[in-house]
Amino acid sequence: MQTGPAQRRASVAVNVGGVMVGGEHPVVVQSMTNTDTADEVGTAIQVAELARAGSEIVRITVDREDAAAAVPGIRKRLDEMGLRVPLVGDFHFNGHKLLSRFPDCAAALDKFRINPGNVGRGARRDGQFAEMIRIAVEHDKPVRIGVNWGSLDQDLMARMMDENASRQRPLDARDVMMEALITSALDSAVRAEELGLGHDRILISCKMSGVQDLIRIYRDLAARCDYPLHLGLTEAGMGSKGIVASSAAIGVLLQQGIGDTIRISLTPEPGAPRTQEVVVAQELLQTMGLRAFTPLVAACPGCGRTTSTLFQELAGEIQQFVRERMPSWRQSYQGVEDMSLAVMGCVVNGPGESKHANIGISLPGTGERPVAPVYEDGEKTVTLKGENLAADFKAVIERYVERRYPPLHAGTEQRQTGG
Ligand code: SF4
Repeated sequence: MQTGPAQRRASVAVNVGGVMVGGEHPVVVQSMTNTDTADEVGTAIQVAELARAGSEIVRITVDREDAAAAVPGIRKRLDEMGLRVPLVGDFHFNGHKLLSRFPDCAAALDKFRINPGNVGRGARRDGQFAEMIRIAVEHDKPVRIGVNWGSLDQDLMARMMDENASRQRPLDARDVMMEALITSALDSAVRAEELGLGHDRILISCKMSGVQDLIRIYRDLAARCDYPLHLGLTEAGMGSKGIVASSAAIGVLLQQGIGDTIRISLTPEPGAPRTQEVVVAQELLQTMGLRAFTPLVAACPGCGRTTSTLFQELAGEIQQFVRERMPSWRQSYQGVEDMSLAVMGCVVNGPGESKHANIGISLPGTGERPVAPVYEDGEKTVTLKGENLAADFKAVIERYVERRYPPLHAGTEQRQTGG
């Protein structure tokens, strides 16, 4: 695996239901369900899908009594499936009531997400926030203070705008808004500590929807506190736009050593699986050299030299094959997630790229002999051709995995993480 950023920002480590976030621990992948949490079975199924796809923490909406009442059952179903994935409850407006009326919900969750902008207005705000923190302390649960520019504390914003207006040289309104987001997060964290929540039980996020805004606010936040930071571009959008924008913003921050856990907030395409956000988060961390989850297939883009769609089909088929085999390989072989593969379209870059991968295949381009040399650890080992090329190449990969990666002993399944 390539190496990642040399230095990570120093942060306090927080234990979220057995998953360590922050400190020297690897950046954690999170996701969120879009089911109605009151639908206990449907939500448990989707959490299970996200967890099996590699989400290490899953957040669920807890928006009303039916939803709060369903949380213990969701936890139980996941436990029965053998999935100990931590569950985070996302609370807005009525979290204080739900957590106090449904103690089993509070106990079943592994973390509470509290949005200081949606805790209540005016005189009620402090009491309702205090109630949620009291319950977090009572149940020994960590809390993410999750600020979002779409729901910024309006009382705080108004006060800061007034203060700004009385300055000799007022700041730009956007600068005041950025400062208000950070102030909301950090003041809430200080208040939570005053109420008895441990410094090592707090995580922070300040989500915005603009790439440059997000980078700027997290750099500022990182310089002003040592709480673990949850990164995410809010309202990132659909399809390639959401993936590109999230990757650009989060990638820059990770490269600067900022960020302890990430979520890619994709709007799913109609019919697309919710797990796509997990795959994108894993691929972002893996392509940056921060973690290794699943062997990735390098493939050339193809050009006028590619004679058919064979190489595109093969690249897709091999990536799919590796994803499907990975759960079994992970339980049997040590370090297999670090394997690199290449599927290339012609002789121009094919042999070179294939030699750099653990295992690569160079397909024939226009005018080349219809044969495909395979390279293993830089050496040409076999030449494939004919209709069974895909199946033959998969068999070569299987044999390579068996030979190259040491077996794991039964009962010593490695964690799905890299360094
Ligand atoms: S390896 Fe060959 S087919 Fe692929 S992009 Fe380069 S020249 Fe084109």
